[in-house]
Amino acid sequence: NHFKEYQLSEEILKALSSLSYVHPTEVQKQVIPIALRKKDVVVKSQTGSGKTAAFGIPICELIDWEENKPQVLILTPTRELAAQIKQDITNIGRFKRIKAAAVYGKQPFEKQRIELKQKTHVVVGTPGRVLDHIEKGTFVVDKLDYLIIDEADEMLDMGFIEQVEAIIEKLPSERVSMLFSATLPEDIENLCNKYMKEPEKIEV
Ligand code: AMP
Repeated sequence: NHFKEYQLSEEILKALSSLSYVHPTEVQKQVIPIALRKKDVVVKSQTGSGKTAAFGIPICELIDWEENKPQVLILTPTRELAAQIKQDITNIGRFKRIKAAAVYGKQPFEKQRIELKQKTHVVVGTPGRVLDHIEKGTFVVDKLDYLIIDEADEMLDMGFIEQVEAIIEKLPSERVSMLFSATLPEDIENLCNKYMKEPEKIEV
């Protein structure tokens, strides 16, 4: 099994090869084809499984470079994870010149506001600050096509679920949603049932 077997453009394949990603990991094998078909998906998997690229690869493939407003929102529980994912997306989208911005708390709002005014395809951030930007109008969500909730169980444990829900309520309902979690407690199952469209369930 090789990345060349997927419906991926030359720009993405070139980036994967420059990252020395030759064979997809198990979670990537399962998620990439579903995501490329723009189907909602719930994935139970651990960190270290290659899950960032499992959503990063199809997202980078599907992004319309011409669109200036953000098309993808990735929610994460921590600043460190947001910064890491921004880097991974930038690497995968390098030859497509995909722009990612990270927004999280304890960093000047103003700096992020200016970053979000530039062309941005992907916004990665922690729930509180993302909600703040949406409410202040500095993060425009009317062209948002893809929502990814990463480490959903951590988000729940940290008390972010209400903020996550408040964010989802503000997004266009015509969108693709993907949720990743190491465990699927009832509150996460409820979130999926409430906001996702007949998601495929994957366990790795
Ligand atoms: P993650 O689970 O997303 O934190 O990824 C774990 C590590 O695996 C990261 O260092 C990635 O760069 C690496 N990785 C992800 N996908 C692949 C792949 N297909 N081949 C080789 N390394 C990979």
